[in-house]
Amino acid sequence: MSTTTTTAAIRVTVWNEYRHEKKNATVAAIYPDGIHEAIAAALRKHPGVETRAATLDEPEHGLTQAVLDATDVLIWWGHMAHHEVSDDIVRRVHARVLEGMGMIVLHSAHESKIFMALMGDTCSLKWREATDKERLWVVNRSHPIAAGLPEHFELPAEEMYGEPFGIPEPEHVIFISWFTGGEVFRSGATWQRGNGRIFYFRPGHETYPSYHDANVQRVLANAVFWARPTVRIPRACPRAEPLEPLPVKG
Ligand code: ZN
Repeated sequence: MSTTTTTAAIRVTVWNEYRHEKKNATVAAIYPDGIHEAIAAALRKHPGVETRAATLDEPEHGLTQAVLDATDVLIWWGHMAHHEVSDDIVRRVHARVLEGMGMIVLHSAHESKIFMALMGDTCSLKWREATDKERLWVVNRSHPIAAGLPEHFELPAEEMYGEPFGIPEPEHVIFISWFTGGEVFRSGATWQRGNGRIFYFRPGHETYPSYHDANVQRVLANAVFWARPTVRIPRACPRAEPLEPLPVKG
């Protein structure tokens, strides 16, 4: 069974751990309604995008089967509570990606259970919370996720993430970041798993206003449109009848 999507609105669920904003006044000042709401508000400016939020402390982390069934693209921000995400919910999200749901994984969610499961790799990296500037080079300017972006753009302060990044070879690398301290990082990369498109995007440390940056918001909107499913195909492994009569044995 497969269902082809129509030209209806793209239904985006923005999932956020939503802990730093409640515990840290600096983070709360930057994201008073949570990182998820900052991202959702930027996406809602685009006609044809509908957003809903889901957070860790809701029942089933806000990701019931009904919510996932009504989600075309899932965005994921997590950091301090990856271990609190239920394995059952991770399996549910994973299955939905394989069916065709798009997934956008942000910043410290490189170590989330769902990203590690989708990648099948260490997802490890170098990091530093200091005074680095981040310069993102668009190394694949014709990719839809890079539409409308300049050749490079900068975030005046960000956490550093450095190579080596423990990911399987991406389908496309779209951004490479340079940091003041000298490191570089594949900060925007895509993969496909099953029928689902996956995009990892690096910026977004909670103590910096990166999700208020116009270029970052453009990347996320582009990624939502790029990751939109074209099919929904449940996993199946059926025995097949022949399409034509087979030669008689012997
Ligand atoms: Zn961070």
